Amino acid sequence: MIGYETFGLKEVINASGRMTILGVSKVSERVMEAQRFGGEHFFEMSELMIQTGAYLANLLKTEDAQIVSSASAGIAQSVAAVIGEGSLYHAYHPYTETITKREILLPKGHNVDYGTPVEVMVNQGGGTVVEAGYANMCTGEHLDMLVTPNTAAILYIKSHHTVQKSMLNVEEAVAVAQKHQIPLIVDAAAEEDLFKYTQAGADLVIYSGAKAIEGPSAGLVIGKKAYIDWVRLQGKGIARAMKIGKDNVLGFTQAVIDYLAQEKESGEAMKQRLLPFVSTVNLIPGLEAVIVQDGAGRDIYRASVKAVGKKTAPAIIAELKNADPAIYTREYQANKGIIEFDVRSVNETEMTKIVSRLQDIMNEGENVCH
Ligand SMILES: *Cc1c(COP(=O)(O)O)cnc(C)c1O
Repeated sequence: MIGYETFGLKEVINASGRMTILGVSKVSERVMEAQRFGGEHFFEMSELMIQTGAYLANLLKTEDAQIVSSASAGIAQSVAAVIGEGSLYHAYHPYTETITKREILLPKGHNVDYGTPVEVMVNQGGGTVVEAGYANMCTGEHLDMLVTPNTAAILYIKSHHTVQKSMLNVEEAVAVAQKHQIPLIVDAAAEEDLFKYTQAGADLVIYSGAKAIEGPSAGLVIGKKAYIDWVRLQGKGIARAMKIGKDNVLGFTQAVIDYLAQEKESGEAMKQRLLPFVSTVNLIPGLEAVIVQDGAGRDIYRASVKAVGKKTAPAIIAELKNADPAIYTREYQANKGIIEFDVRSVNETEMTKIVSRLQDIMNEGENVCH
């Protein structure tokens, strides 16, 4: 059996939330079983993609769906789809100069880097980004005035990474797209609501498999049947380099089923788990812990631990990361002396390990002072 030690890797405790740099999330036993079933059997692959897509579309109350390898692949393939419009010639010659309708209208404040710039994925799909509006604002009119005969689609990024202030909402983008009869693609990679954006009238909506859905590495494109057919056609072209395995197709499908059925851990339940953690941390000299709600007002509670002794928050954070297991925390408020612990992906055993590690770090601090 392979393990962390096989490759000289450190075990990681993730008290930071959902982070791509740590592998985002852990999959459930049921998802593992679905992956195993996929890995151990043969399938007519094109049927597998069509039927899992139809199954998910039914669950998500939309016309059709295609599982892809990542949300990034979903962006590139959707862009290629709206440029090629079902042409096999285009699938074989995705960057041909005979096709000039390649402009992808994007609010300027949505042209972000989520780990990779959105623009790189648009370019990979053969599109050219045309930014609408300004760094701090974009309205429906800003999009509207830039539509030309070469506009292939409007792309809307729904994410905490984007500028939030003075930005049009999805419904306003839908109105512009419908007025000009051009498709609207919504990248909702990390969003939790799998129904909202297709219901708002978006033509294609993209999700990441391992973020909110907590599936294996995968992506999902859902929406209007004609567009999904075009997305699927890219499998004969650029999407071959973004292929997803049958194990993850089935694992991801199971993850969506579970995601829709499961109740999310409530903020109240997080508070209950945090209470003993916070009271033990409060016994450690140099640390003061309280439970706080998520800054954006979501139903998420975290332990906010203030460094009040000799050791600073950044020093403690560094020591937590350097040991094995490596403990990752939310560092956004380290400059204010605060370390946040997000327990959504942390179990009881791991919480005990975090406490004893904090005790060791703070005791060492005391010894240094003496
Ligand atoms: C994470 C993210 C992506 C990419 O998702 P992957 O599945 O990792 O490719 C795309 N867009 C946004 C807004 C994201 O947050």
